[in-house]
Amino acid sequence: MTPMFTCRELVEELREYLDGEMPWYRRWLLGLHLLLCSACRAYLASYQATRRLVKGLGDVDARTALPEDLSVRLHATLPRPEK
Ligand SMILES: [Zn+2]
Repeated sequence: MTPMFTCRELVEELREYLDGEMPWYRRWLLGLHLLLCSACRAYLASYQATRRLVKGLGDVDARTALPEDLSVRLHATLPRPEK
């Protein structure tokens, strides 16, 4: 287990985090990263806004309903981890 989330890991695990499927220590580390990283806070805000929008449209899975180009654009706003 890595001691800190990278931005990339946070993006990959955000759905799990929001759905409450993540162990408490991972949630704690992810929350800590959000406190320290304004880029990921901005990503979380737009991700939640998208989910709310999708839920308002009907009972569909947010993952399949999220347009591919929007997902790519959201990722492009994040700084690239070095590894
Ligand atoms: Zn970050």
